[in-house]
Amino acid sequence: MGDMDGSTNLGPRPPEAPLPRALEGTPLYVHLPFCAAKCHYCDFFSVPDEGQDLGGMVAAILREAEQRAPQRPRTLFLGGGTPSLLPASLLARLLDGLHELTGWRDSVVEATAECNPESLDRDKARAFLDLGVPRLSVGVQALDDEALRLFGRVHSAADSLRAVEAAQEAGVEELSVDLIYAWPGQTLESWIADLGTILGLGTHHLSAYNLTYEEDTRFKRWLDRGELSQAPEELELELFQAVRKATHDAGLEAYEVSNYSSSGYECAHNINYWHAGDYVGLGPGAVSKVGPVRAGAPRGIAPYLRWIEASGHATAWRDAPTAPTRLAEAWWLGLRLREGLSAQEALIRAGWHHSEDPSAPVVEELLGLGMLERVGERVRLSEAGIPVADAVAGRFLRELSEDTPTATGPGSAAS
Ligand code: SF4
Repeated sequence: MGDMDGSTNLGPRPPEAPLPRALEGTPLYVHLPFCAAKCHYCDFFSVPDEGQDLGGMVAAILREAEQRAPQRPRTLFLGGGTPSLLPASLLARLLDGLHELTGWRDSVVEATAECNPESLDRDKARAFLDLGVPRLSVGVQALDDEALRLFGRVHSAADSLRAVEAAQEAGVEELSVDLIYAWPGQTLESWIADLGTILGLGTHHLSAYNLTYEEDTRFKRWLDRGELSQAPEELELELFQAVRKATHDAGLEAYEVSNYSSSGYECAHNINYWHAGDYVGLGPGAVSKVGPVRAGAPRGIAPYLRWIEASGHATAWRDAPTAPTRLAEAWWLGLRLREGLSAQEALIRAGWHHSEDPSAPVVEELLGLGMLERVGERVRLSEAGIPVADAVAGRFLRELSEDTPTATGPGSAAS
């Protein structure tokens, strides 16, 4: 494995060879790394947009797509960063260019763009629709201006509500809202009220993530210095149960541990991650998985641009987890979904070719502890297991994994 983030390897060319081109239909992710400001809890690769060459980044991503993008991807996801920060003309250049290279407009079952309230208005929403991106995921995060200031967000609660309504007025029907809970000072009462407001907007999809204190973030430093205090576990559980109840009452199903949707509005792109499927990521910091191998681009604008110019790809690191690790990850990711998975599916997703299934004793143990339940051939988290999904996943990783897992996906973060 090479340097994991590539930020310290600033040579003229990428240190690793690119992955082989993924099969036709493989989901495509595009990472647009610019934001209005850096949020204090965020560990995604993103930088403030001031003084950055947005057009140069779009050109580089298209150059990378020439070499690496799959033909006719099944889903397209513009993430970041803040894709809505790009002006409509640049979004058109990017999305038209990607279509010429991959034919995505004729192949996708879903196309999503992440948006933030400060850069989402009626015209921007209309532009996404006209360009073939009907699904918008809006980073609302909280409806409390003090919390938003603590997060380092540049928008207010009122801006968020205006942005969601503007998107709806523009005709966006596939609308998702991201929220964060268990932030310092949050109360159960205010959370229930905020959920009522958001669900009252009639959005079909909600992602609600428990705040995590990631390394190398201001939040983590503040926590370590005692300047922030984490929500007590008991309250975290109450907040989690409250979102499950509010979404259920509003007709949204908890199809994943942190994700809720009306029937038919589940995020197909993310379900592929939880199925441990292949995906191709373009842009700085983006990760790809083709077969058993993962690879990623550097978390840095300068090396990404330089390497793309020199080679057409920016592969900073490659990693091939062992088969037992892949099996642990198949369980870890698959159990996040309400549908769960069968032992057979886990083996297939992991590419496991041995006769013995080393995950079977772990499954039996967790069934015995009441953390998992059987539904026909499948196994899923029980009501007792859902709030402690990470601990259940940890059991598989501890028992089976021989190396540090690097699977990525939308597990516990909000943008
Ligand atoms: S949380 Fe989202 S908007 Fe904030 S810095 Fe991270 S990627 Fe940008």
